[in-house]
Amino acid sequence: MTDVRRLVPRTDAVLAQPAVAEAARRLGRSLVKQAVVAAQGRARVGDIDPADVAATALAALPATPTALTPVVNATGVLLHTNLGRAPLSAAARAALDVAAGTCDVELDLATGGRGARGVAATDALLAAVPGAAAAHLLNNGAAAIAMVAAALAGGGREIVVARGELVEIGAGFRIPDLLTATGARLREVGTTNRVTPADYADAVTDATAFVLKVHPSNFVVTGFTRSCAVDELTGLGVPVVADIGSGLLAPHPLLPDEPDAATTLAQGAALVTASGDKLLGGPQAGLLLGGPGEGAGLVARIRRHPLARAMRVDKLTLAAFEATLRGPVPPTRAALDADPATLRARARAVLARLPGIDAAVVDSVSTVGGGGAPGVTLPSAAVSLPEPYAAALRAGRPAVLGRLEHGRCLLDLRAVPPSSDDTLVEAITRAPCRS
Ligand SMILES: *Cc1c(COP(=O)(O)O)cnc(C)c1O
Repeated sequence: MTDVRRLVPRTDAVLAQPAVAEAARRLGRSLVKQAVVAAQGRARVGDIDPADVAATALAALPATPTALTPVVNATGVLLHTNLGRAPLSAAARAALDVAAGTCDVELDLATGGRGARGVAATDALLAAVPGAAAAHLLNNGAAAIAMVAAALAGGGREIVVARGELVEIGAGFRIPDLLTATGARLREVGTTNRVTPADYADAVTDATAFVLKVHPSNFVVTGFTRSCAVDELTGLGVPVVADIGSGLLAPHPLLPDEPDAATTLAQGAALVTASGDKLLGGPQAGLLLGGPGEGAGLVARIRRHPLARAMRVDKLTLAAFEATLRGPVPPTRAALDADPATLRARARAVLARLPGIDAAVVDSVSTVGGGGAPGVTLPSAAVSLPEPYAAALRAGRPAVLGRLEHGRCLLDLRAVPPSSDDTLVEAITRAPCRS
């Protein structure tokens, strides 16, 4: 025992080895030291050979300085909430790299004076939604709604909203709770299934701050129903605010029931709020758009509110958001628009590279996800594998997340960027499964 202990290399000596020193530069000294100490411990108890301390420590280290693991989204759900919703475009990733360093986020390089923050990002948004007169970015969709409520209805003023639109978004986040947390009061109108323009009109008083329309983005009510469009609510003498949810900027032919910013503003909404990382395909952000009438003034008022600073987006978001809008089609949009025949051809090409594996190409059905476009199905193609592949692929690096269906593991290609098909083949080939 004593002999083995004497053979265990000293911590400093292990840390000085080139590969270990390189890992310390990449991941930080304390993390690497912890791994070395753990490996020394294993050598002392005879679990590993003392000569293998450095190699064992290196093997135990993560590949990157984050605990996050890249996952190939083969679930067929375009916006998978547990996978971080929208993946960023290459352009947005490149913009993140620029913003990550010191950059002129609040500096005018021409004059050397202070520059306005975030103008390029809001200009990109205004260019994408020509009907908007003003735009502002916040941390997420919830922040956008909260800021509107705080700035316009904070001191106990009323928000008139339909009962059927008091939505729970997910993970226990409820719009009515968010609204009342700002000090606003809710004036609920209509019933679960029906609300008419007269219901809204009857509820508007001097205490009303605005009428709110919330898109029921994650459920559908059918049968004896009636809801009111924005243009039915614009004559009540108070602003109409519309939370459209998904961040669709213009109508999309595959999503006829998803409201979009341009149409909603054209219908007379004073303010539109939405998320940046749903169908827009950008970074997590909250969009606030003001219409051509009173909307611009309301956006300015919200920007000046003390809480606006607490909801302010960072330079990384500004850069990625701008690049998402100005750059090439983001992955989420490409996945939404992917042609089923192309997806099938890709699935066949993947299958052809899997000789000896019990795999097949099957028709699949993708969904939008991210709490959006409920009921919308998108025809897709998948590679079908024996069920044990699901766990094996999840354990791989990068991980691949498929979908279990009828005892098979389906890898749906709609949300997988074509550039990841090679990764998919390698992951399946490497997976420790015998079929
Ligand atoms: C997603 C969603 C929100 C919340 O947006 P986050 O960006 O997740 O904060 C609010 N309202 C609607 C209708 C939504 O779909």
